[in-house]
Amino acid sequence: MIDVTLESVSKRFPRAGDTAAVDDVDLRIGAGEFFTLLGPSGCGKTTTLRMVAGFYFPSSGRIRFGAEDVTNRPPNKRDTGMVFQNYALFPHLSVAQNVAYGLKIRKVGRAEAKRRIDEALGQVHLSGYGDRRIEQLSGGQQQRVALARALVIRPRTLLLDEPLSNLDAKLREETRVEIRRIQQDSGTTALYVTHDQAEAMAMSDRIAVMESGRVRQVGTPQEIYHRPATAFVARFIGRSNVLDLPVVSAGPETVTVALPGGREVPVAAPAEHGLREGATALVSVRPEHITLGPATDEGALTGRVTELEFTGMATNLLIDVAGEPVQVAAIDVPAGLAVGDQVGLRLPPERMWVVNS
Ligand code: ADP
Ligand code: MG
Repeated sequence: MIDVTLESVSKRFPRAGDTAAVDDVDLRIGAGEFFTLLGPSGCGKTTTLRMVAGFYFPSSGRIRFGAEDVTNRPPNKRDTGMVFQNYALFPHLSVAQNVAYGLKIRKVGRAEAKRRIDEALGQVHLSGYGDRRIEQLSGGQQQRVALARALVIRPRTLLLDEPLSNLDAKLREETRVEIRRIQQDSGTTALYVTHDQAEAMAMSDRIAVMESGRVRQVGTPQEIYHRPATAFVARFIGRSNVLDLPVVSAGPETVTVALPGGREVPVAAPAEHGLREGATALVSVRPEHITLGPATDEGALTGRVTELEFTGMATNLLIDVAGEPVQVAAIDVPAGLAVGDQVGLRLPPERMWVVNS
């Protein structure tokens, strides 16, 4: 088990102009932690992972495994296990031969190799599959072989780049539980890459949300969900309303804003919000935290329903509140509510949070 540190790491590709694929990233991944890089396509996740693996070298900055500086060390001198989206298995070799690959390179003896291959196949619940051919396995089983191949060398860090993307939805959910279990059992420090926020939330100890090569927020799934740092994070993690609301007064950790219709409510804000009276605050509120009632409700906002979709678990609505579209996910809706109706909305101030732009 080892911690991994990235210090001001940037990567510029030749001929890619001035924009950095990865821009001044600082991260510390704790020993044994399951840490995820999450963000939309092109935000720099794979480039960051490849620098940790040694397939790319940073343009600037340092990477450390524990106290060791590995910044310029080649991949085969880093003791990392890699798992890719497309598995990258050798189709003409058996399961056991695929898993043996890293041991062969390391010149591990026959008896010891056999013991470790059996152990790795056991870890991924594929004991007895050693003689099968890769093409006889399902996609989920192939991905577990890839995981066994990464684990058999007892890597100091396990690096996974969108390993579930080629699996169908149900298998993806099963396999993400498996990967988390295997990582916990082996105690290996894991750096995981995905664009899927539900996957990141379900698997990770902590998540770094990336946008345009930069890390926008690092935190536990709960912190990122309930206290998104920026409007981008609020919208990318689940769904969120980000409302522009005028600031009535501002304190160090609370900002009082005026809701559409004029009611003033105090809302929690990050310490360095920099807002003053007369400014506009960006206020995040989750659709599931808004409750609906009759339009005549005292103290509620009123709006007109413009979209209504029943999903079984909840009803998703879009409501026009004084020209501002507000998303609501309601377990209970007033009986007979339909598109075009006026409705009352309650936004609980304790569930609202000022975000940075
Ligand atoms: P992600 O994995 O988050 O989808 P990447 O790390 O693959 O993003 O890419 C980040 C940015 O760097 C993108 O704009 C991509 O086009 C660019 N990029 C990635 N690899 C290369 C490369 N080998 N040469 C030039 N540009 C690259
Ligand atoms: Mg990628």
